[in-house]
Amino acid sequence: MIELDGSHGEGGGQILRTALALSMCTGQALRIANIRAKRAKPGLMRQHLACVKAAGQVSAAAVTGAELGSQSLVFTPGAVKAGDYDFAVGSAGSCTLVLQTVLPPLMLADAPSTLRLSGGTHNPMAPPFHFLARSFAPFVRRCGAGLDLKLQRLGFYPAGGGVIEALVSPAAEGLQPFDLTERGALREAFAESLAPALPRSVALRELQAVGQALGWSGDQLRAPGVRQDEGPGNALMATLAYEHVTEVVTSFGEKGISAEQVAAQLAREVKAHEQSNGAAGVHLADQLALPLALAVAASGRPARYSITEMTEHTRTNFGVIARFLPVSFDVRPAERHLVVELNRRG
Ligand code: AMP
Repeated sequence: MIELDGSHGEGGGQILRTALALSMCTGQALRIANIRAKRAKPGLMRQHLACVKAAGQVSAAAVTGAELGSQSLVFTPGAVKAGDYDFAVGSAGSCTLVLQTVLPPLMLADAPSTLRLSGGTHNPMAPPFHFLARSFAPFVRRCGAGLDLKLQRLGFYPAGGGVIEALVSPAAEGLQPFDLTERGALREAFAESLAPALPRSVALRELQAVGQALGWSGDQLRAPGVRQDEGPGNALMATLAYEHVTEVVTSFGEKGISAEQVAAQLAREVKAHEQSNGAAGVHLADQLALPLALAVAASGRPARYSITEMTEHTRTNFGVIARFLPVSFDVRPAERHLVVELNRRG
């Protein structure tokens, strides 16, 4: 049994999700205390409970403590089953975090799976759909597994109602590690404003302000068509497609925050990303660790990737992963980035 203290390090939901994923991947039972102790409302919220239940279904697990508000959990996984799953968060909670939980074991299963995930598709503090599809999924494919994502319907807080379909195919020859040390040349950069059920002027003002701040114009500023019943909600996204990696930076609109403030926040994050030359931005840095560590543990071969900065989130994720897998993470600073090296221990 692996015992974890959920108040360690970053103290948020990712400790729980990474631990559930690796408990399923390795077959090791998990006991976790002080779940989300460093958050304003600690314990399991609806979206975390949805992750626990999804993990329970995928691995026929015995679970105690799976209740709203629960701060401790014991999870004993059985065999992981590929299949057709329908996971509903049942609120506007992020459904991409459910995917983050069940994807790793399904990448190791003996057959493909289809998932229908419903809830929020674009939430603050979670990977937005477009980040997963453009930034993260290509690296799952580089490990040899398959991940095809379709956005059926947008979902924003507070209405939710978004739907994502995912097709996950296991790696035929086992997961393969890779190196991602450079971004490569910038091929394309553009901004998109999603603003269903809001006046079109909101999207246009955001794009104009981003264009001014970043020097982007014309086809780089996009307001894709959205269904009015998919809102209200607003996500302003910047996509930076480099030769070896695509970064998606997202800023969220909400009541009381002007379109110009949403745009200024996005422009600040894009400029911060451009200050560094690390290949993986702040979020990709913590999310690549798990598939790469599985690949390194399975193959015995090392992997390296460069990151823009070392966040508490990333550090905490490395720590949780190293409790389950015989993998070490060495981080060393370099010129305008840091390099993370993964090696199999022992
Ligand atoms: P936690 O805050 O512990 O629940 O974890 C949040 C997860 O969502 C982490 O894996 C973050 O990398 C990810 N995340 C948060 N915001 C974004 C964003 N804007 N783009 C991509 N991923 C994100």
